[in-house]
Amino acid sequence: MAPEVLVVEDEPDIRALIVHHLTQDGFRCRTAADGTEALTRLRAAAPDLIVLDLMLPGIDGLEVTRRVRAEPAWAAVPIIMLTAKADEVDRVVGLELGADDYVAKPFSPKELLARVRAVLRRARPADPGRALAGGDVALDPGRHRVTVAGVTVELTPKEFDLLHALMGSAGRVLSREFLLNRVWGYARADEIESRTVDVHVRRLRAKLGAAGRRIATVKSVGYRFESE
Ligand code: CA
Repeated sequence: MAPEVLVVEDEPDIRALIVHHLTQDGFRCRTAADGTEALTRLRAAAPDLIVLDLMLPGIDGLEVTRRVRAEPAWAAVPIIMLTAKADEVDRVVGLELGADDYVAKPFSPKELLARVRAVLRRARPADPGRALAGGDVALDPGRHRVTVAGVTVELTPKEFDLLHALMGSAGRVLSREFLLNRVWGYARADEIESRTVDVHVRRLRAKLGAAGRRIATVKSVGYRFESE
């Protein structure tokens, strides 16, 4: 499915312009006219990327960035900030707060599209075609195939996506919230949903046999795939 971009911009003309060009380039778009609306849209579902104007009425772009980065379900969503040329300081603060890139206004739609594509590429460390390996576990996203010591393991689509996420960030702890968002598409996680992750991890481990021990439980945080 085409990546979805949340466009947060209070000026209707600029918002429409951005949406027009993104849509023409094959992206799906949702929009918000201010920070409060942006947070509401995020709660409904996390997009693949946020184009975020810095100067917004009410909750501004910096505060939206801060909140997005503080929320596990959204923390991995890349942000491109739109700034006025003079906002040098805010731009630096924005990047420190966790914006991935910025585009200075006035910008050409072509430049914005190039940044959107570049940031999305960077944001997807496990690009769907790249095969991953850790110990004797091999995962081939192109063929949707997992093997342990060369023997194919039958996984459900969710188990496959879960292993893909874990192996794609091998050595790093992924929180249940992050996994729920990445694998199940939930913007928010409650207790029952968090248990969904535990249940799937348990099944996945069992199917991987001895190699299942590579999925380490990190107490009260989440899970980590260990290649070593
Ligand atoms: Ca503005």
